[in-house]
Amino acid sequence: MKPIPDHAVNRLRIWRKSISTRPFLARGGAVPRCEACQLRHAWCACEWRPELKAEAGFCLLMYDSEPMKPSNTGRLIADVLPDTTWAFLWQRTQPHPELLALLADPAWQPYVVFPACEKEPARLTERVTLANGKKPLFILLDGTWPEARKMFNMSPYLDGFPVLSVRPDALSTYGMRVANCDEHLCTAEVAACVLEVAGELKAGQALQHWFNLFSSRYMAGRVSRAPGEDETPLLQALEAIKGEGIQQATPALPGSDAA
Ligand SMILES: [Zn+2]
Repeated sequence: MKPIPDHAVNRLRIWRKSISTRPFLARGGAVPRCEACQLRHAWCACEWRPELKAEAGFCLLMYDSEPMKPSNTGRLIADVLPDTTWAFLWQRTQPHPELLALLADPAWQPYVVFPACEKEPARLTERVTLANGKKPLFILLDGTWPEARKMFNMSPYLDGFPVLSVRPDALSTYGMRVANCDEHLCTAEVAACVLEVAGELKAGQALQHWFNLFSSRYMAGRVSRAPGEDETPLLQALEAIKGEGIQQATPALPGSDAA
């Protein structure tokens, strides 16, 4: 069995499973899977998992059973950036003290990543503008679209932060997308776009490649067939990223003018 990467989402999944009183029956939940990549054993992609370092941080607020869903893609962010990804179960009125501490940490400059802010349009931005010495912390609401909207509207502790809306079609990571989830970007794809907006192109591309491989193999596993597309370019891109070894943090993030 492949070792399970020790990162925030996997720790949350293991804990969430431990407190479940019933077996988890979501779609795909009954299929035997590699615990590390959540793909069917025959499709295990662990050997291609890229792992990088970045200046940007991610804070995933995950809706209820989301960490246990094999299809969850928030986990892929933690796979690629294990050192700067945090994950918490969403709580409306009793947010985890470590979440509040993270949001209050002066090292970070939080952004809530969400496409709109109807109540307070002034909070909306498409740019990452960092105060001196701060690193961006991107808060992602990980769930279905209605769940994400609920989390956005019902989390008073997020109300003070700017809302980052990404326009993915203008970004190179978007051009690398596989075509099977058209309407809304998956959480990992949003994160790849956000990394590009923050100037961390290499990490963004690694995440998009990793998502593409996961997505292609997840779908293939679901219908028990070989992936329709040729994976070779994708595997080569991931091999190249791994071949460079663990990356150093990328150079300075863009300042207020360059973002
Ligand atoms: Zn695996």
